[in-house]
Amino acid sequence: MTGELTISAKWWLKRNALRPWMTCARPSAGNRIALTFDDGPHPRFTSEVLDALDAHAAKATFFCIGSNLVEHPALAAEIARRGHELSNHSMTHPGFAGLAYRSIAREFDSVFSLTGPDRSHLVTPGLIRPPYGTINLRVLQYCIAHGAHIVYWNRDPKDFNAADAEEVLATFRDEPPRAGDIVLLHDSVPHCAAVVAGMLDIIATVGLEAVTVSTLLGGEPSRAVPR
Ligand SMILES: [Zn+2]
Repeated sequence: MTGELTISAKWWLKRNALRPWMTCARPSAGNRIALTFDDGPHPRFTSEVLDALDAHAAKATFFCIGSNLVEHPALAAEIARRGHELSNHSMTHPGFAGLAYRSIAREFDSVFSLTGPDRSHLVTPGLIRPPYGTINLRVLQYCIAHGAHIVYWNRDPKDFNAADAEEVLATFRDEPPRAGDIVLLHDSVPHCAAVVAGMLDIIATVGLEAVTVSTLLGGEPSRAVPR
C-alpha cells in the first residue's frame, strides 16, 4: 500500500525507534527467557504443549486467535489454570496490510473483551502481537490510543516450515538461547510439544528460566484496560 510504513524486526533492532510501543527482547531480564506460542489454541497440539511445559515447571505466553478461544473455551481456561498467559493475536488473524484502522481496532478490542468461565477477562490487557508480525502506522495508532504494547520476538526458528522438532532444535544448538530472548513458536504445529521439550532442556542447560512475557517485561506493559 502506497505510503505505508512497514517495519521489520531487523529494522527495529537496527533503529530501536519503536521502544515505547514494541519489545523484541529484554536482555536486562536476568536469567529469564520467554517462549511464545502463536495461532492457538489448537484442539490437539496445545494440550501436548501444556504437558511439556508442566514437565519442566515452565511458564509461557500464548498469543491466541480470538475465534479459537471462542471455539475452545475449556482449552483457554486450561491454559490459564496452569499458570500461563493468554495474549491477543487478533480475533480472526487477517492480514493487516490493507485493513482500515477501525477494523484493526475491532480485531484487538474484541479479543480483549473475551471473558472466561469466571467472567473475568481472558487475555492480558495491553499486550498484542499483530498477525504475520505486520506493523504499520495504523497498528501504532492503536498502541498509542489504547496504551497497548507490541510483543515481537528476536528468535524465530520457522517451526511451521520445519520437517520435525529436531530441525527446529538444531537452530538453538547452533546458537543457544540467551537471557531476555523472546522466542516465536506455534502451538498449531504438530511437532510443537517435542520442540518445547527439547527447548526447555537446552534452556535449563544454559541456566535460563522460561517465564511469561509479562514476567519478562517486569509486569509493567499492561496499561490498557479492556472495556
Ligand atoms: Zn499468527
